[in-house]
Amino acid sequence: MKHYTKEELEQYRKKEMSIIRRIHCAAHLKECASCATLLAELDDDDAFVGKLRESIKRYDEVGVVQKTTQ
Ligand SMILES: [Zn+2]
Repeated sequence: MKHYTKEELEQYRKKEMSIIRRIHCAAHLKECASCATLLAELDDDDAFVGKLRESIKRYDEVGVVQKTTQ
């Protein structure tokens, strides 16, 4: 059984893969714990980046508040 690389799973997540390949990939992910784990790790990376963006946004808002009160 051929495993998917991180790059391929990234394409799968972003729907940059052809439909046929995505169907194959989805079927593989159901059967293969190691590829499913890799995909979950990519999701975690995204969640981390999302949190990072959120905290930067909050920091910016605080900066705006400080500017307007001075
Ligand atoms: Zn696999």
